Amino acid sequence: MSNTRSSLPTARSAQYSVVRDIVAEREGREWCLFLDRDGVLNRQIVGDYVRSWQDFEWLPGVRSALKQLREWAPHLVVVTNQQGVGKGLMGSDDLAAIHEHLQADLVEEGVVIDAFQVCPHLEAADCDCRKPRPRLVLDWLANHPGCEPSLSIMVGDSRSDLELAHNVAAVAGGCASVQVGEHANAGGIADASFDSLWDFAVAVGQARGETS
Ligand SMILES: [Mg+2]
Ligand SMILES: [Zn+2]
Repeated sequence: MSNTRSSLPTARSAQYSVVRDIVAEREGREWCLFLDRDGVLNRQIVGDYVRSWQDFEWLPGVRSALKQLREWAPHLVVVTNQQGVGKGLMGSDDLAAIHEHLQADLVEEGVVIDAFQVCPHLEAADCDCRKPRPRLVLDWLANHPGCEPSLSIMVGDSRSDLELAHNVAAVAGGCASVQVGEHANAGGIADASFDSLWDFAVAVGQARGETS
């Protein structure tokens, strides 16, 4: 894994100043942190799907990161494409069981995920909920009118997550995009980029320490 981005002092400070603005803007407001699942929370299985809890492997530092982010974010929602369901490789009940385990595994960290927003459809089905289409996010926001849609944040590891953020912003008036993982900032379309969810959580923690 490359640390090139965050080991460069200028790159690090540029990412950090973005996070500082993100934190300051949301101080005392009600908003939601949307998180991709595979490649952000757990190791992505290349060429296959997480079909059961046995296949689910937390990425390093993620549970601690979620604890920190949960203390910051008024709402935490996972948004995930799972076309393994559409392909018949697993059922909706298998997916629900994985998410129940995931949630149970976070209890000791005091972390509650508000919701798991899932597109189970085949890419070929051309549904309106598959990321990067914004419906999973917009539906959740519509049901939570206390949240300010334009203060939403989307954290993901792939280009479709960042495009999702842009598509949400087009409707909601704003949505910060944060890329995490080994890929470089794909096309430079993320507002900020970190090697892991843990690195993002650390930057948030620093910024909160400064502003409070
Ligand atoms: Mg992903
Ligand atoms: Zn769908």
